[in-house]
Parts: sequence; structure tokens; C-alpha cells
Amino acid sequence: MLQQTRVETVIPYYRRFLRRFPSVRSLARARRQDVLKAWEGLGYYRRAANLHEGAKAVVERHGGRFPRDAKAIRALPGIGDYTAGAIRSIALGHNAPLVDGNVARVLARLLAIRRPVRDRAVRARLWEVASAILPAGRAGDFNQAMMELGATVCTPRAPACPSCPVRRWCRAERLGTADRVPTRAQARERPVRREPIALVPRRGRILLRKRPDEGLLGGMWEFPPEAYLRGQGSRLGAGEAVGTYRHGFTHFSQVARVRRYPDARVGPDRALRWVDPRTLGNLPVTRLTTKISAALRGGT
Ligand code: SF4
Repeated sequence: MLQQTRVETVIPYYRRFLRRFPSVRSLARARRQDVLKAWEGLGYYRRAANLHEGAKAVVERHGGRFPRDAKAIRALPGIGDYTAGAIRSIALGHNAPLVDGNVARVLARLLAIRRPVRDRAVRARLWEVASAILPAGRAGDFNQAMMELGATVCTPRAPACPSCPVRRWCRAERLGTADRVPTRAQARERPVRREPIALVPRRGRILLRKRPDEGLLGGMWEFPPEAYLRGQGSRLGAGEAVGTYRHGFTHFSQVARVRRYPDARVGPDRALRWVDPRTLGNLPVTRLTTKISAALRGGT
């Protein structure tokens, strides 16, 4: 939950999630829809899906006990090098290094590495260094301290070098290049994806579509894209313009022109469901769908 999200935001979700799924077995048994619902509002839903898959794998492959072996941990769904390092060092007390964005920046500055930390060779070097300087038996504390240093002192734009506890070992500070190291890769403009959305009412209900389990926002519910309905054989008929709504993702922006199709004839489809708009909140719905329904309720 903490990946890409602040602690204060996460705490209530974390508590609610643990009440709802108090053990790895209860999470493994849960329906995807209920897991996504408990996650709703935190964003990056891939993490929820991975956690669910991870719980299933722990139950199926390891009898419900989280594995201790580095390879077995890394083989669990959704666990990459960083997460494996965090779990092993902090939760299991292993001498395992980790490099997240904050640690990468701190190390690059300590060594005055100018090239972008996204560069593969630089990344590999940083992992080597993180491993070499790891104090045996204190890896969890050390890794947390490094992440915290990057988050609070050695920040991207304005590193607070005078109050930094590792200043005397820092090459970038000595060279006076701290705020220019590492070089940031040029920010690319986010591409725009346009996707017309259909509002199809029927006897006080509204049509929703469940997204495929795999891929972006997997298993979440949304007002269906027009192209999806046409693709499965629905006839939309004449539409009335409702408005245009935007939502930003990490790698692209979504722009949705919304139209209402009161006369649509919708073909049978297990991914589609007619829902009372007042109970929309019972399903895990996408942010864009929440935005659109909130705007409609507000009469805009
Ligand atoms: S001295 Fe400055 S640049 Fe070096 S690690 Fe500390 S805060 Fe970062």
C-alpha cells in the first residue's frame, strides 16, 4: 500500500483491509471484486491484484506461511527486487539490500554518479554498492534509514546538506553538484488516450462493465466504452452529449467524451450489469466512473 502513497493516506485503508482480510488465507479465499473494493481510493490497483495473487501463491505453494527463501519470495506475484529487499531486510531480518528511488538518489550523490539512475548499468552499480555497505545484522534499520534520508534530507531538488548525517562521505556535496546529481531523465509529455464512454440507462438503472481481470484497472467496474459495446454487437442509437471528463494516470491522460444513449439495445454479455446508480458504491469502480457519476449527481 505504501508504494507511491503517503503513510497518512494509507493508515485507515491498512486498518480496514486487515479487519476485512485478517489472514493470508482469508485474502487468498476472497473474491477479486471484494479485494478491489477494500482498495478503492488508493489507486494503482495493480498492487491490490498482485497482493491477492500473492496471497493465493503463499497458500498454494507454501501452505499459508510466507516463504523465507530469497528465490521463493522473488517468485511471488508482484514482488520485484525492491519489495523483496524490503520484506527480507525489514520483516525477516535478512542481510538484504534494497534500492528504491530515494536510496538510488542518495547513493548516486554519495558517489557523484551523474548519469540518470534509470540507466541499467547505473542501477546495477547502485545495487552492488547498497549490498557492499550493508551492515550485517542491521539491514532493516539501515535500509529504512537510507529511504528516510532520501525522503526527508537528500530530497530531489533541495538537499539539506548542512544537516545531513552522511555529509562527510558525500562526493557530490564536496564537488558542489548535489542538486544536479543524478541527472534527471527528460520528463516526457504524457500521451492522451481518448475513449468515448456510453451512459445507457434502463428503468432507473445504469449499465456498467467489468474490466478484464488482467491489465490496467483489472476487475474494476466502469461506464462502458462505446467501442466495447459496439464490438460486442450492441446498437447504441442516437446519443445526447453529457460532457467531457479527464483522468490522469502515471503514463497517460484519459479524456472521455460521455454521451447518453437512452434507446440503446445491448446484447447479452457477462461483463455487463445494470446497476442502481445509488448502489454504485458497493462495487469497485474506476476513478473516472466515480468522477462522472459525481458530476451527474451534481447536475453538471
Ligand atoms: S550531503 Fe547532501 S547530497 Fe550528500 S547525501 Fe547528504 S543531503 Fe544528499
